[in-house]
Amino acid sequence: MSQVLRSTDKFAAAVFTREKMAQYMSKSAFNQMVEVIDNGAKLTPELANQVAHAMKEWALDNNASHFTHWFQPVRGVTAEKHDSFLTYENGVALDRFSGAQLVQSEPDASSFPSGGIRATFEARGYTAWDPTSPVFLAFGTKKATLVIPSVYLSYTGEVLDMKTQVLRSTAVVEQLAFKLLKKFGNRTARSVRVTCGTEQEYFLVRKEYETQRPDLLLAGRSLQGASSPKDQQFEDHYFGSIDPKVLAFMEDLDDALAARGIGYKTRHNEVAPHQYELAPTFVEANLSVDHNMQVMAIMHEIADQHGFAVLLHEKPFAGINGSGKHLNWSMADSDGRNLFEPGESPKRNIQFLTFVAAMMIGVDRFGGLLRAAVADAGNDHRLGANEAPPAIMSVFIGGYLSDVLDAIAAGKDVKEMEAATMEIRAKHVPEIAIDTTDRNRTSPVAFTGNKFEFRAVGSSQNIAEPLTVLNLIMAYGLEKILGKIDTYAKKYPKVKDAALAAVREALNETARVRFNGDNYTAEWHAEAARLGLPAAKNTPEALYTYLQEEVLALYEHFGVLTRREITAKVEIRREFYERVKILELGVLSKIAKTYVMPALVAQITQFGSAAANLRNEKGKAVLEAKLDFLSDLLHQIEDGIHRLHHVMNTTHGFDDLVDAVNYLGEEGQSALETVRAVCDTVEQEVSVEFWSLPKYTQMLHIL
Ligand code: ADP
Ligand code: MG
Repeated sequence: MSQVLRSTDKFAAAVFTREKMAQYMSKSAFNQMVEVIDNGAKLTPELANQVAHAMKEWALDNNASHFTHWFQPVRGVTAEKHDSFLTYENGVALDRFSGAQLVQSEPDASSFPSGGIRATFEARGYTAWDPTSPVFLAFGTKKATLVIPSVYLSYTGEVLDMKTQVLRSTAVVEQLAFKLLKKFGNRTARSVRVTCGTEQEYFLVRKEYETQRPDLLLAGRSLQGASSPKDQQFEDHYFGSIDPKVLAFMEDLDDALAARGIGYKTRHNEVAPHQYELAPTFVEANLSVDHNMQVMAIMHEIADQHGFAVLLHEKPFAGINGSGKHLNWSMADSDGRNLFEPGESPKRNIQFLTFVAAMMIGVDRFGGLLRAAVADAGNDHRLGANEAPPAIMSVFIGGYLSDVLDAIAAGKDVKEMEAATMEIRAKHVPEIAIDTTDRNRTSPVAFTGNKFEFRAVGSSQNIAEPLTVLNLIMAYGLEKILGKIDTYAKKYPKVKDAALAAVREALNETARVRFNGDNYTAEWHAEAARLGLPAAKNTPEALYTYLQEEVLALYEHFGVLTRREITAKVEIRREFYERVKILELGVLSKIAKTYVMPALVAQITQFGSAAANLRNEKGKAVLEAKLDFLSDLLHQIEDGIHRLHHVMNTTHGFDDLVDAVNYLGEEGQSALETVRAVCDTVEQEVSVEFWSLPKYTQMLHIL
């Protein structure tokens, strides 16, 4: 038997944790650092030097040679540039790392998207260490790099990244939640923290298939591919036993995550073949962003070692489920109490109801912004298409809590729910306690017991954006409900009574966003339209939401982003949408020209010569009919290729990016779908000997 190692033995081995900080720093410096991290105390240059030295010593003890500021430009991916510790001083080689180098760095930033904020000639951008996310080591094959989580700002202090907005909005919502807690008479809590855990869905395919398919390789999704006779109709994959090869991958993945201090909770098969999910343990909001970025990066590394490619695209395969992430969001006070925990009696727990009502206010007012936060070309295949979840933002709170809220809204008394248990009637099986919420997989925002779960996030996306919006709309809701409580305080001297009146009013005002039914039905879509709930059908439409006056004012009011920064954000996302669509059009054209058409011509040639050599008239007629059909397809392919090029040329001809993006959302998308359909028909008509692209049947059934 190999040596047994418990997961806890190497947990956070690659992270400069508090324990390591305490070990490598003097006691007073360590205590000062804790103040900086926990309470935002100022980091003095002397302290920065001390912590930098400690980090370097720890890093060198672990075979590191370089350090890097690791940041997330607005496109959402991570960026890094490595600097060596090695320096020469008076002819002596030394490893040095100063406080100044830790705190700030200036990457040559001219190639990062800035949405017009930073012209290339004034390329200065600064990365600054974010001490609330611990530094860690990334191991290469020989040496390690010390990674410093950072924010990224322009020379003039404008936000150029995804993380600054997270830090700011988290602080805002935490302060408001704390204020509400105090209003309810809480004496012991010192602060409130937002907590997040991101369930991550993904597909695995054999690496060689990815290499053989230019669409998977370049665009991350299959732009062509006839559906397999067996996809997910048997529903035999979900929670099925895990393939040993996949399990081996998952074990290595879990190990690598543990080393980075990323806890894992569950792993399982998802609905589609070769689709899986990983749920981490939840952590503080800001850290959860960095964790999820690492999860995605580490997945790629480990998959590669196992001969797999991991597909994080929202819709790698047409006709079967796409992938998302569930952003679980909650708040806890410094005493460890979850503010969204209903407790034994949700009805009597007015404080809990007030927090829930605040979220309702936020979703009711800014549902469109939530949808916009997760809008991109990949996620368009889920939201707004016939897939979970829909583009309309509503909240599912489960049957019991719904009854409670409805009764409060109507001013009626609420029936207390017995702590329900389910009798199983099988000897030896213990009774099961029933949750106060049931499940609804179709809802975009679900209250799941003691947290809100935002399920519209795309599997490849950076959660910083939806997280910021959740923080912001909750902050908005909290501010509103605090205002209502103050107003009712004149009538009701007891806080609880004032709060209950405020909750009742809020619930009545926001009734339209509470929806427990099936979110996929046409009836709900019609009803939602009648209720005035926004339902942007694609990214170009959704992105306008950011530019609405009330949205700009929301960001400005809470000091999270300026108008200019939001305009830049929208510009960058439009540019990216354009690039993705142009890439897809180009790749599909290449596939149609260099794979599909030649395969079709080979088939035509084969049938043609067979027909010429055939004496039997009936057989000849069969082949001739086939040849007619295939020749028609040949025309359609040719037309399709022309159409793809026409769309690309037209797009390049627009002066205005908005026009280009809107055009791509309609005509670009339609061209991709139409041409794909023709290619898929060809795939089903030609002999496998002429077809060189891996098929869905292979990609989804062979690992
Ligand atoms: P569920 O049973 O609703 O799926 P789980 O306990 O399995 O909930 O957790 C699902 C995900 O939600 C996990 O990634 C977990 O880390 C996260 N999560 C659980 N509780 C919280 C919380 N209080 N705050 C933020 N995320 C949480
Ligand atoms: Mg979930």
